[in-house]
Amino acid sequence: MTSRSGYWRFTTDTTPEGIREAILTHLRLSLARSPDTATPFDWWVSTAMMCQDHIVDQFLATYRAQKADKVKRLYFFSLEYFLGRLLPQNLINLGILEQTKKALTGLGLDVDQIFEEEPQIGLGNGGLGRLAACFLDSLSTLRYPAFGYGLHYEFGLFHQDIINGYQVERPDDWTRFGVPWEIIRPRFSQVIRLYGSIEWDKQKPVWVGGKEILGVPYDYLIPGYRSPVVNVLRLWRSKSTVEFDLEAFNRGGYFEAVAEKSFCESISKVLYPNDKTEIGRELRLIQQYFFVSCSLHDIVRRFLNEHTDFDDFPSKVVIHLNDTHPAIAIAELMRIFLDEHNLPWSKSWELVSQCFAYTNHTLMPEALEKWSVPLFERVLPRHLQIIYEINKQLLDSVPTTIPQRDELIRQISLIEETQPKLVRMANLAICGSYSINGVSALHSELLKKELFHPFYILNPKKFHNVTNGITPRLWLLASNPRLSNLITEAIGEDWPTDLEKLEGLKSFVADPAFQEKYELVKQSNKAELSSLLKQRYNFVIDPDALFDVQVKRIHEYKRQHLNLLHILSLYRRLLDNPNLDIHPRVFLLAGKAAPGYDLAKCIIKAINAVGNKINNDPRVNKKIRLYFVPNYGIWLASKIIPAADVSEQISTAGKEASGTGNMKLALNGALTVGTMDGANIEILEAVGEQNIFIFGLKAEEIRQLSATGYCSRKIYETDPEIKYLLDWLGSGEFTPGESPAVLQPLVHSLIDGGDPFFVLADFHAYKEIQSKVDQQYKDRKMWISKAILNTASLGWFSSDRSIQQYASMIWHLAPCLPK
Ligand SMILES: *Cc1c(COP(=O)(O)O)cnc(C)c1O
Repeated sequence: MTSRSGYWRFTTDTTPEGIREAILTHLRLSLARSPDTATPFDWWVSTAMMCQDHIVDQFLATYRAQKADKVKRLYFFSLEYFLGRLLPQNLINLGILEQTKKALTGLGLDVDQIFEEEPQIGLGNGGLGRLAACFLDSLSTLRYPAFGYGLHYEFGLFHQDIINGYQVERPDDWTRFGVPWEIIRPRFSQVIRLYGSIEWDKQKPVWVGGKEILGVPYDYLIPGYRSPVVNVLRLWRSKSTVEFDLEAFNRGGYFEAVAEKSFCESISKVLYPNDKTEIGRELRLIQQYFFVSCSLHDIVRRFLNEHTDFDDFPSKVVIHLNDTHPAIAIAELMRIFLDEHNLPWSKSWELVSQCFAYTNHTLMPEALEKWSVPLFERVLPRHLQIIYEINKQLLDSVPTTIPQRDELIRQISLIEETQPKLVRMANLAICGSYSINGVSALHSELLKKELFHPFYILNPKKFHNVTNGITPRLWLLASNPRLSNLITEAIGEDWPTDLEKLEGLKSFVADPAFQEKYELVKQSNKAELSSLLKQRYNFVIDPDALFDVQVKRIHEYKRQHLNLLHILSLYRRLLDNPNLDIHPRVFLLAGKAAPGYDLAKCIIKAINAVGNKINNDPRVNKKIRLYFVPNYGIWLASKIIPAADVSEQISTAGKEASGTGNMKLALNGALTVGTMDGANIEILEAVGEQNIFIFGLKAEEIRQLSATGYCSRKIYETDPEIKYLLDWLGSGEFTPGESPAVLQPLVHSLIDGGDPFFVLADFHAYKEIQSKVDQQYKDRKMWISKAILNTASLGWFSSDRSIQQYASMIWHLAPCLPK
């Protein structure tokens, strides 16, 4: 079913009737089903195939034009693509969503039910993977010639169940029933090598032995919004180079034959469900190398198809490293030039160092890829030699006159002189790239000032900033049709590709008729979410309550526990004073914790435990409720975000590189409660300080507090409210029937664990800003005008703007249109 080998002529009719016919044709000829026995899944597959028919010819025309014009292409390397469901996205981009809905309704089908049959493509953990997906959408929309490259994980991000308040993970077997979007191209497979050793053949190193692995490309076609350009996301799946080892089998070595196959297939088996924290696993290094090597060989093959002279390589190829994970590409392209194409070292380095651009996505030190030298040498012996040589030349190039030269050399070296030694992949990425950027103004400044300071001293011109963005096609048009219609009614239909047009809404901010409509949109979205959550989880949510939302990966630096402490404090105050005048508020939290991150899982348990208590306490549950929504992903985000009144962006200042959830929520008219961190700062500048709630220590203050000694235990001992709340949380009262120690790790981390993310230090500022939120929410007109102003001011945060900046400032890329 995954193959699309039809021999009939497809219709490209875009009327509801034509679409209906195409769906029925696929149901019959591709699936061999008839309408009376077809399941909703069959209908989904047929609809996706109909949609793909409209994409394929555009793709062929795009590729033909790129080839004819010998264009420069962007190759985007990312270990994650968090795509979600493609059908609604693709139909919107093609401009046939309404016709398709009509066709399905005409067939007596429930459109939402059919769309929800699509397995979500969760080949990503969170913001980084979703950014890659938004960028693909913008690249095609803006007509840039681009390929995405990544891994075809057999299992994407785990499915999260909440059982008795605990996170329980289930594997995400997303390809089980086949994926109609995929085009498998075994003819373009690549063979890569691992392990082995280096032999010398007349002074020339030759990498021999070890294992050979086959990489098979799975292509996803990515249409842009109302754009003639369709780009490709090429994901590699690992296989054994021998389909079946008949010889070993005949020798009686059946298990030997199977074990080999199983090792090869394990490489693309599973997405590492880690967000931020590093894992030192051999398989992860192999995953990185596997996808990078397959992709680079594919790129060199395509280059040699269109060009003859490697001197043209940097003017035709730009490779973007989406974070440090694919940094091994720099050593691998050197190896390909040196060993496979016999270019001299200096020429190879000249070419390589003009092709790569690198985006750093985090300042968290534990997330910088470092591999032990013995592991690296075992898996990639030739690459270690190359890295040593790059390092030698890098260190030799440091001017002898530079102050504190030894210290600087120690910091920029590609090798960390620990026991065992470590290969620093971020340093490799920096020294091999012609451009390095952070993802928000603050983050880029901190890279220059702190993490990459020595490199910045040596080469300040390499450093840039490109603030992240989000695609308005998904995060407004598809997710929030009510608001989209209202916007189009007010300012016309150009905004999805020119989001700064939203500025036009500013003239409606004080318009009572528009305010009323805007409020009605928000109210309807809230009612819809509330009934969805009632239906699925039996949550009881009053649509008139303030919807206070914190949805993102669970991590200490994102401080869901700061949110929780405030909720606890509100609970306490309501018990003490039942007449406390607050607007009813429902706190919604959602997000996954890395399976090995015990404290994050403890935070989930704590949220559920406190929520359970509050929601069942009749003394307070008309005023506050707290729910944790399971299995946060793109789909849930698209339901929660349009219904939010308040967006919690409360990371410890200096820790969140950018954030994109903050942009999605503000665009949809939620007011941000946030720290001066990541893109919050730029959102503040865009919306103005009257329309956002900023609180807490700034990055510089956090740094100083760290340096002078921060003692969270002292706060606990001297601050009666904090002491009360932490003792309460740890008392066992919220976990009846379980050991009272269940929530102790969380409490402990905030007291004797030193509170590494300054939760206690920011608690009172947070509590104060939250009471301001409550007061302001009571003035409905004022609040709505602020919400409108947020929507109107967020245009700059479109991923189209990010991609334009990359294209002009870093990639030097021009659009290419099919003829
Ligand atoms: C946008 C998004 C994120 C990133 O959220 P942040 O608040 O920026 O951390 C994570 N997961 C999903 C599903 C998203 O859509």
